[in-house]
Amino acid sequence: MTTDLQAIIEEIHATLSPRTGEGKAADYIPELANVDPKKFGIAVIDLEGRVSKVGDCDEPFSIQSISKVFTLTLALGKHGETTWNRVGREPSGSAFNSIVQLEHENGKPRNPFINAGAIAISDLVMSGHTPREAIGEIVRFVQYLADDAGIAIDPAVARSETATGFRNFALANFMKSFGKLTHPVDHVLGVYFHQCALAMSCVQLARAGLFLAANGKNPLSGHTVVSSQRARRINALMLTCGHYDGSGDFAYHVGLPGKSGVGGGILAVAPGRASVAVWSPGLNANGNSLIGSIALEMLAAKTGWSIFGAPHA
Ligand code: GLU
Repeated sequence: MTTDLQAIIEEIHATLSPRTGEGKAADYIPELANVDPKKFGIAVIDLEGRVSKVGDCDEPFSIQSISKVFTLTLALGKHGETTWNRVGREPSGSAFNSIVQLEHENGKPRNPFINAGAIAISDLVMSGHTPREAIGEIVRFVQYLADDAGIAIDPAVARSETATGFRNFALANFMKSFGKLTHPVDHVLGVYFHQCALAMSCVQLARAGLFLAANGKNPLSGHTVVSSQRARRINALMLTCGHYDGSGDFAYHVGLPGKSGVGGGILAVAPGRASVAVWSPGLNANGNSLIGSIALEMLAAKTGWSIFGAPHA
């Protein structure tokens, strides 16, 4: 089996490039509909820091729900295991913005990666902070993870989502009615919308996720971000909950912990091997990048990186 990652991702990119534009880019956040649907980038960073990249891999895009991995990490750092008093750890089997389950479960979201759960996590990250301070802390944390001070929020995307985030307002108000949010709803959503509006390239995203592939320590910067146990647990949540009601399908086809965003990005973690980021805006029916998911399936098949078994013969 070849381990020439650059050759592998170039081949995947060449194979799938004619299909970019398939799927449907998110347009419920109007600003996201302005992105060229044919964008396609892949970046892989191994534990020695070797970067393999192809296509639109240096162009920042809206990471949207991928930010939920970073805010969960922050919340766990601040609140430890008590974080789980506020959100569960079970796959939802529902759409990313579903409100149905919340009523049955008394306002406690199933997991930190569906919208309701991530809003509860934003509330936790805020503790002791104004919304502006909390947003600043999230940006600095992601800059620290990626070791890149150039990472910033796209204010147009944050404004666009604030103007049209009716569903998220409904979810947050619903949780507030159950006493499950500490801060005012508009403050919590201000933080949530801004974290989702972080703009990062595939290369920056792969760097930011590298600690999860390396037992909690970023091998490039030398920073210990979390314990190895916590890294394993975050990976477990990404595997079981990272793709909404498509999480089982992603585990079946790709076999790696991953987190998608409606901007068309996916961060995937190959524990002990590499961190991978892909970007292609067209989404499948579950709101996950269509071509990005196929690219990761091809990468996992070609490298034998699935966590579920030995490499193909
Ligand atoms: N900001 C998006 C929302 O709340 C995130 C959804 C996603 O990326 O899956 O609707």
